[in-house]
Amino acid sequence: MKLLTIIIPCYNEEKVLPFFYRKMNEIYEKMKHKVDFEYMFIDDGSKDGTLDYIKEVSMKDYRVKYVSFSRNFGKEAAIYAGLEHSKGDYVTLIDADLQHPPEMIIQMYDGIIDGEYDCVAARRVTRAGEPPIRSLFARAFYRIINKISKAEVVDGASDFRLMTRQMVEVILEMKENNRFTKGIFGWVGFNTKWIEYENRERIAGESKWSFWSLFKYAIEGIVGFSTFPLIISSVLGVLFTVVSLTALAGMFFESFILGHSPSKTILIISIILFIGGLQFLCIGILSEYTGKTYLESKHRPIYIEKEEYVTNDK
Ligand code: UDP
Ligand code: MG
Repeated sequence: MKLLTIIIPCYNEEKVLPFFYRKMNEIYEKMKHKVDFEYMFIDDGSKDGTLDYIKEVSMKDYRVKYVSFSRNFGKEAAIYAGLEHSKGDYVTLIDADLQHPPEMIIQMYDGIIDGEYDCVAARRVTRAGEPPIRSLFARAFYRIINKISKAEVVDGASDFRLMTRQMVEVILEMKENNRFTKGIFGWVGFNTKWIEYENRERIAGESKWSFWSLFKYAIEGIVGFSTFPLIISSVLGVLFTVVSLTALAGMFFESFILGHSPSKTILIISIILFIGGLQFLCIGILSEYTGKTYLESKHRPIYIEKEEYVTNDK
């Protein structure tokens, strides 16, 4: 029998966990003839009764395992810990608040089992119930990150997905500290099947994301997967230098060919622009190297293998 690990990052979720656990057990009843479950609860430094609840169920249910953090490290860290401790042949990530419909796990499992896909992921099709300004920023973010980075980040994609062990191992190879999981999923490649779902309200408790924390998360995504912003200074440098050189050339033409005396103000402005431009250019060169060092420091795998056929025959 195959084993499916269900990773549930939890931060102050005492209100929803009983509902979540009951619902998951209903799903288990429908799936138990084809797969076993392993629950991997990650208590991300909760300050309420989350851990007590998890401990209580783990004593009654041998499938329930948990890892508890010393403080709140964030959902990305919780996901990493979950993947690291998972033993399943397949692994699924799901939120505790039932915003990710658990019944979709059945569909995801059926989608992955024949081996055509390495990952079946849920994509939210509506942003109903979300403040319009948040949707606007979210759309802009997806447009920007897909233009400037190699990691494909799908609009509406959530962390809710089911993956093969092979893909999990590869994600664990990405050991960077600032983890933008949505980018990592895209970066590692593999065949992903998308299934769509409607947005749902959280059943109890509250969201941990404010507008500001989402904004910081977006910046993290961009900085983590692209060094494009570093080019801005090179571009400014070239622009300033070209403008100032054109103005200076114009002034020489005016004074030497036409014999007019050139304007001192324009001369001074051009020289300032020229020096400014050179400085921007130098910063641009520096940041190219810094950018490379930054990417190297992540120690990401150079390539990711899916299959191989290598023989020792001479
Ligand atoms: N979560 C976590 N650590 C955090 C914040 C959130 O483990 O620092 C968990 C949370 O318990 C939930 C999931 O991540 O299971 C999604 O969080 P939330 O519902 O607050 O996010 P939203 O659905 O509003 O994007
Ligand atoms: Mg939620």
